Amino acid sequence: MSAEHLIGCHDCGCLYHREPLNSCERARCARCRHELYRWHAGGPLRRADSLVALTLGAVLVYLLAQSFPIVTLEMGGMTSGVTLLQAVGVLWNEGMQVIAALVLFCAIVFPGLELASLLYVAVGLRRGRRVAGFNMVLRVVQGARHWAMTEVLMIGILITVIKMTSMARVVPHPGLFAFGVLTILCALVMRYEPKALWELADRLAPRPRQEADAHAVAHAPDMLVACGACGLVNGYPWQRARNGAAHCRRCGAALHRRIPNSIGWTWLMLVAATLLYIPAMALPVMYTRTIGGGAEGDTIMSGVLLFWNTGSPGLAVIIFIASVVVPVSKLVALAWLNATAQLRSRAAPLARTRAYRVVEFVGRWSMLDIFVVTLTVALVRFDALATITAGPGAIAFGCVVIVTMVASHQFDPRLIWDPIESNGERHV
Ligand SMILES: [Zn+2]
Ligand SMILES: [Zn+2]
Repeated sequence: MSAEHLIGCHDCGCLYHREPLNSCERARCARCRHELYRWHAGGPLRRADSLVALTLGAVLVYLLAQSFPIVTLEMGGMTSGVTLLQAVGVLWNEGMQVIAALVLFCAIVFPGLELASLLYVAVGLRRGRRVAGFNMVLRVVQGARHWAMTEVLMIGILITVIKMTSMARVVPHPGLFAFGVLTILCALVMRYEPKALWELADRLAPRPRQEADAHAVAHAPDMLVACGACGLVNGYPWQRARNGAAHCRRCGAALHRRIPNSIGWTWLMLVAATLLYIPAMALPVMYTRTIGGGAEGDTIMSGVLLFWNTGSPGLAVIIFIASVVVPVSKLVALAWLNATAQLRSRAAPLARTRAYRVVEFVGRWSMLDIFVVTLTVALVRFDALATITAGPGAIAFGCVVIVTMVASHQFDPRLIWDPIESNGERHV
């Protein structure tokens, strides 16, 4: 049996033989229903072609989106308009460096890094080559994609625009449309998972079969482990692993049977996030200064109530869900998952795995309020009439989002399935 034809389930650790699929089929894990791999139209060359075309288009639209203003506001004969980078600059100069850095990385740096790295890899694959640093660049794509939030930013832009129409004339600019197109292109690019690109590279630019490969296949290993980065099933060398030096033989990522100290780190992150959530809700996220009105602080909840009372119940509900429902339910759900995993509970593993997937999916949407605050602060700068500045609550809230995202990333979903017998499949 060759380890090359095995695949490990990311969510439960079960191990399967790869079987050829018919058109439009997807292979799913029999235990947890996680998608293992899917059928692709066209050959590997055609896939590389469409990846090059798609990422090239996305990179161009990204450059347009970042270099044009998104909207301008007109109020009392004054206008103000900013690009996303200028909005980040405004927050930075106001002493809100934490929020500025958060927006800079999640909305500018990581999306750009993901697209540029993907284009670099794709162009190489199209020519049947592994570009220099191939493994590292694909791992960068994987990491950057986790933190890139173009779709959340787009909804944040729309909410800000709707909010602004009540106080000023809003004129859309090319940046607004470019971000709309970029969101769609990024969703299409997301269908190319780095794991599938490692497989594609094996077909378009086969690696020289290394000694280590032959060794791993020839010597029946005591345990097989799927690489967390590229998905390849490796023989797990216990002896070397104890000395802290087991690495995937395809991509070089460190191999772990389970994420080290997953439960302890998850608890630590959950406690930190819960403590940070208190100032995030209690302190103002924005201060509004109007002519003759002095400064007025708004917490997340008073902002929600303001939307509700001023005839925008839809926006009130969206902000309430993103800023209260999502973070609180995420903390509760992760605490439940971590506690049941620690107690080696055997109850409802499928339901718990599904809860984990929801937590992983919705976590990023909490950034919505941070994007709305950033754009509002950057746009409403009419010195004589009205100015909005960010408050300390926004910093605490930004930290809650980051810490809860790290917590869910740190939790190892395979722990849910560890106490449960499998039906003859081998565990990895
Ligand atoms: Zn599974
Ligand atoms: Zn690997």
